[in-house]
Amino acid sequence: MFKNALSILAVLVFSMSAFAKGGTVVGDGGHSVICSFEDGATTIELFDVVQARDRFQFGVFDTAIFWDTDQSIEMILRNLATLDLGHAQEALRESVTRAQAMSGLVTEYETLPYTQDVITYDRLPAGCELKQLGITREGPDRIGVSVLKSDWQRLDDPHKAVFLLHEALHFQIRDPEAVRQIIGYVIAPVFFQMQNRAVVEKIFATGQSVMWDEFVH
Ligand SMILES: [Zn+2]
Repeated sequence: MFKNALSILAVLVFSMSAFAKGGTVVGDGGHSVICSFEDGATTIELFDVVQARDRFQFGVFDTAIFWDTDQSIEMILRNLATLDLGHAQEALRESVTRAQAMSGLVTEYETLPYTQDVITYDRLPAGCELKQLGITREGPDRIGVSVLKSDWQRLDDPHKAVFLLHEALHFQIRDPEAVRQIIGYVIAPVFFQMQNRAVVEKIFATGQSVMWDEFVH
């Protein structure tokens, strides 16, 4: 069992180094949720968005569909500036700024390796699956963001903005669940953000995720 897991890991590491030379992978990569319907139609969303909606039980991005990617990041930054998040405020601002810079570093590829299978989520709706959307690598002198062309081009701009923020947050926080909780917080309605300032401050202070029900909603 353990040996099997090791050899799978070895294959993953090999295929990833063959994919892009140099640099180390930052975070767990971004994942999308693809849902298929009986009539053959499919939808694509970021996993972070799907999870936030499922855990927090509210709509996200309802009003943002007309923004382009850079405007979406800008709006996130502006919204955050109105919150008083203590130490988390500066940390978040740093990640949003990094996401803005990373928006110019995206390269589309026909195929992507699956970075990790650390995500186990038993609450995906029927007919939906997780898929690798992007991988960020940090080299000695540059950052590269690789995305899966076919899915990236179908994704709307607010989702692209959230993907970039997810990748940027991983430069500060390793825990994938903690990153997704911060993303959920960032895209939540203002009343939710006001109510949960202490929770997000705690996540930034510890670098660890909290229990999802610690969020007040
Ligand atoms: Zn992640």
